[in-house]
Amino acid sequence: MEFLEMRGIVKRFPGVVANNGISLSVRKGEVHALLGENGAGKSTLMNILYGLYEPDDGEICIDGRPLRISSPRDALDAGIGMVHQEFMLIPALTVAENVVLGMDDGRGPLLDLKATEAEVTRLAAEYLFRIDPRARVADLSVGEQQRIEILKALYRGARILVLDEPTAVLTPQETRELFSVMKTLSSQGHTIIFISHKLNEVMNVSDRVTVLRDGRVVATVNTRDTNPSELARLMVGREVGLDTSGARTSPGETVLSVSNLVVNDHRGLRAVKGVSLEVRAGEVLGIAGVDGNGQMELIEAITGLRKAQSGSVAVLGRDCTGLPPRPLAETGMAHIPGNRQRTGLILEMSVAENAILQTYYRPPISRGIMLNEGEVRRFSDSLISQYDIRTPNQDVKVKLLSGGNQQKVILARELSRQPRLLVAMHPTRGLDVGATEYVHSRILAERERGCAVLLVSVELEEILALSDRIAVMYEGEIAGILDGRNADIEEMGLLMAGSTRRSASCSAAGHGG
Ligand code: ADP
Ligand code: MG
Repeated sequence: MEFLEMRGIVKRFPGVVANNGISLSVRKGEVHALLGENGAGKSTLMNILYGLYEPDDGEICIDGRPLRISSPRDALDAGIGMVHQEFMLIPALTVAENVVLGMDDGRGPLLDLKATEAEVTRLAAEYLFRIDPRARVADLSVGEQQRIEILKALYRGARILVLDEPTAVLTPQETRELFSVMKTLSSQGHTIIFISHKLNEVMNVSDRVTVLRDGRVVATVNTRDTNPSELARLMVGREVGLDTSGARTSPGETVLSVSNLVVNDHRGLRAVKGVSLEVRAGEVLGIAGVDGNGQMELIEAITGLRKAQSGSVAVLGRDCTGLPPRPLAETGMAHIPGNRQRTGLILEMSVAENAILQTYYRPPISRGIMLNEGEVRRFSDSLISQYDIRTPNQDVKVKLLSGGNQQKVILARELSRQPRLLVAMHPTRGLDVGATEYVHSRILAERERGCAVLLVSVELEEILALSDRIAVMYEGEIAGILDGRNADIEEMGLLMAGSTRRSASCSAAGHGG
């Protein structure tokens, strides 16, 4: 018996039909995965269900009865709760205070906190989480905060729980705990809609999967009757190579050498606390870790965007500590920055202008103090075709390109210089499967060419697919180094969560045999 039905949902935004006649049937008590690439329309559909967006067309029924949901309040009244990717908790308040916050239950401003605390503890125990209702939210881990959000929805009486990409911020252990909570909830009759673009997670936790592509439903399948390749094909609309690991060559000379680097963040607090690492020609050193453990500051210091407090950075044996980006680029360093729109591109400039950002002051692109227009056109056209940048022409402003094509502009500019060292941070963040696959193949091609690659990513799959060695960063330090070929995901997860430390002899420098 279908329990929740969305029929013919249409939602248009300026220039895009985010939901183009979507019908979704969800059964009571199931974990229903909503799978699709970035931009497929998953969040939009669920924001409509939660009353945040008004659909342009279509209807929603629960138990056969049509419902009008025009606010989260209406959604909650219908038993629908949603946990967004960004949590909406107040750090300074306790768990119980956060749970009751914003509830207008007629009890007035004087909340019965004791009763709430008892109820929170009871609910938590029922679904197998351990939560101290009096703990301050600020002191909780990301995984715990997420469980408070779930608890908040349950406390408000949600029977249908929508989780929008809940694992994006979690370590593997936290993800497993979340999955077990999800399974318990569904076994007790709750219905869960789980949004994800990760095939293995969908395979792992769902009963059924609905695949969205370009605002439409491609298929709804039973999870036990499908497999990751089929899901990937449905998601992208063509065959996808899931295995990006190429032949591993043996690495050559040391290209990047970072020693005891200490870096502060923008508030002046220590973000990197004495990191040492080496990357050799022809190898990829992957830096894994939960976002915000000093990765950004480390990369900014290495690429000349942030001053280091102490320590050194050397490229090919030459001390480059404190050099600004331009001279660093001259040493053979290329950089794919973590935020392509802020530091990677000048959005108001054209594809051609962005393509020559690193080379415009040198012949043949420059002629004296002038730009060699003919050469600029020839150079950028060749990059556009070589890197398959989908743009009407080279004069289009970069801000008008899709995220994937913007990233290709950066790749083209950086890799066309044949760098000796490539520093790439979140190179596929926000990209769809097709563009991700492309970026991965280019990074591996650089490695084959003998380039040294330092890769930072919060996507474990990406780290595992590309890295020869994996350094796990936790609270500004390298918590451990693992062999990329047979990295133990359990161990990685523990390192990411800071719950284990490898011995001091295991530093990121060198290969240790
Ligand atoms: P998903 O969650 O599957 O990644 P979304 O539902 O967020 O996809 O987005 C679907 C499409 O709708 C995308 O093209 C996105 O840019 C667009 N979109 C989503 N929300 C808005 C909005 N508030 N305003 C304009 N466009 C939006
Ligand atoms: Mg989304």
